[in-house]
Amino acid sequence: MSKVVKFGGSSLADAKQFRKVADIIHADPERKYVVPSAPGKRFKEDTKVTDMLYRCYDEVAVQGKDFTEAFAPIRERYNGIISDLGLTLNLDEEFAKIGENFKAAVGSDYAASRGEYLNGIVLANYLGFEFIDAARAIFFDNKGNFDADTTDACLGALLDKTPKAVIPGFYGAMPDGTIKTFSRGGSDFTGSVVAKAAKVDLYENWTDVSGFLVADPRIVENPEGISVITYSELRELSYMGAGVLHEDAIFPVRSANIPINIKNTNAPQDAGTLIVPTSHAPASEHVITGIAGKKNFSVISIEKDRMNSNKGFLRKLLQVLENHDIFPEHMPTGIDTVSVVVNSSELDGQREKLTERLVEVVKPDHFEIIDGLALIAVVGRGMRSVKGTATRVFAALSHANINIRMIDQGSSELNIIIGINAGDFDKAIKVIYDMFILSE
Ligand code: ADP
Ligand code: ASP
Ligand code: MG
Repeated sequence: MSKVVKFGGSSLADAKQFRKVADIIHADPERKYVVPSAPGKRFKEDTKVTDMLYRCYDEVAVQGKDFTEAFAPIRERYNGIISDLGLTLNLDEEFAKIGENFKAAVGSDYAASRGEYLNGIVLANYLGFEFIDAARAIFFDNKGNFDADTTDACLGALLDKTPKAVIPGFYGAMPDGTIKTFSRGGSDFTGSVVAKAAKVDLYENWTDVSGFLVADPRIVENPEGISVITYSELRELSYMGAGVLHEDAIFPVRSANIPINIKNTNAPQDAGTLIVPTSHAPASEHVITGIAGKKNFSVISIEKDRMNSNKGFLRKLLQVLENHDIFPEHMPTGIDTVSVVVNSSELDGQREKLTERLVEVVKPDHFEIIDGLALIAVVGRGMRSVKGTATRVFAALSHANINIRMIDQGSSELNIIIGINAGDFDKAIKVIYDMFILSE
């Protein structure tokens, strides 16, 4: 049994956390490949190194500020960890190279990636493992899409001859060597890619909570943990904002049937959450497995008499949206109405143009864009076999006087999505939690 272990930013925020990480790795010789994030927050108001790097790059490459001064707080974070751990490592040459590249304005992806790159060097040195730069092993194609096949072949071959290694998360290289990052939180994805290439038996994802919880602990006080969740349930929840694991992280391991175990660096004895294929999942403890949600959605609401008999109506509508790079998240339709739920940010700077074009092309009887919508996903494999789940969600919300503005049930019967006013967001999550978890 061999394992890939990924440690998030809070697990590697300072020397104290590095020691916990080393203890975890050394406690199990099967923990062979380690994927670190950049140092995260040490306390609530602290800044993640990744955010410091984006800012520093902007100051140096765009505003023309002095690199040595702008980079000083970042240098301090690494040098602090190195000296507190008593390492003899010296990163001055690396810092100088980064300075040259910042001044040459090589790109903000390169800048952000240095957080993981430097942390990987420090961790490899501390553990006595080999360091493998992700630029040598994780690849994107010319269009900037992750190149799974090339990565799997190259990384697999590299790991075959490296018994223990640290591979930094979050970035890889384009065919011309340019550094590119995944989206934020992407080290989870790197961990999954490494697990697949190394053909391990388990991908352990170490963070600052004892696994996936039924709801966001920042909204529900002390929520129950989830012991087993399926890849599909997790995908729904992480897409809808449960930030524990990057929304794409399940794909590489799912195709290789490798389970993920979410564990807590600060409480390694806790079992955490096991993420498995549907076929391996036991019956769930509750009807629902989890609740997640996101704010900042808008509804493009369109009414048109006899819309349904109007050939090509939806196609034309979708074409206009596509031409404006707007992706419909949900599209509940009535006989003469259609509502398109979109991320509000996608409307930025193009509301007037979009309105003009939609009116011209689909000629609606009534047209309106309504902002301030929040979406909540109630997810669970248990919903398929139990009747009345939607009724209970509605009852919980109506008791709390929360108006439901949209409903969408996935055809897999794995989730119910409801749209509510953003102001009711926290309250809605709490009452759904109470209805399904506390009263079951
Ligand atoms: P890391 O830096 O280790 O990658 P993240 O901050 O990305 O960690 O993810 C862990 C955080 O996700 C937790 O600290 C918690 O605040 C948040 N979170 C949001 N929803 C959930 C949930 N349903 N269960 C557990 N944690 C959640
Ligand atoms: N350090 C990166 C971020 O802050 C990637 C990660 O932590 O997974 O988004
Ligand atoms: Mg994360």
